[in-house]
Amino acid sequence: MAIEQTLSIIKPDAVGRNQIGDIYSRFENNGLRIVAAKMMQLSRKQAEQFYAEHKERPFFGELVEFMTSGPVMVQVLEGENAVAKNRELMGATMPKNAEPGTIRRDLAYDPDNPDSADNAVHGSDGVDSAKAEIAQFFAADEICPR
Ligand code: UDP
Repeated sequence: MAIEQTLSIIKPDAVGRNQIGDIYSRFENNGLRIVAAKMMQLSRKQAEQFYAEHKERPFFGELVEFMTSGPVMVQVLEGENAVAKNRELMGATMPKNAEPGTIRRDLAYDPDNPDSADNAVHGSDGVDSAKAEIAQFFAADEICPR
């Protein structure tokens, strides 16, 4: 199987709830290795650039507000089929639709706000987008593959 790298972001909601360790454990317990990491406060420009593919969507403004509402933890995950494995661990986009056992369901679903799209984590959706997203946040010498 292919060893891949993928970009993961722990979003401001999960950082605010002190869930970095829980999420890192899920990665590590499922064969994903953290090979680069940084905590940062995204600027509006960085968030807009990162989610540029969604700029015509009605939720774009809200998404940029959310992603800049507090610090995020950005990491490169490495492992067999890392892109798909991370997406599997994350679960469906909307926490209410995510399966129990996934990060988004277990850590981001709020029964008092069931339709919220604040969903704890980002993960690249393909090998090519992973390469581009990793390059947005990390220089080559900041990544420490196994
Ligand atoms: N999003 C949102 N409202 C929606 C759909 C998505 O605010 O109706 C946000 C949500 O934070 C999601 C991000 O936009 O993670 C990117 O959406 P995408 O469809 O790429 O989902 P993902 O790949 O993150 O599951």
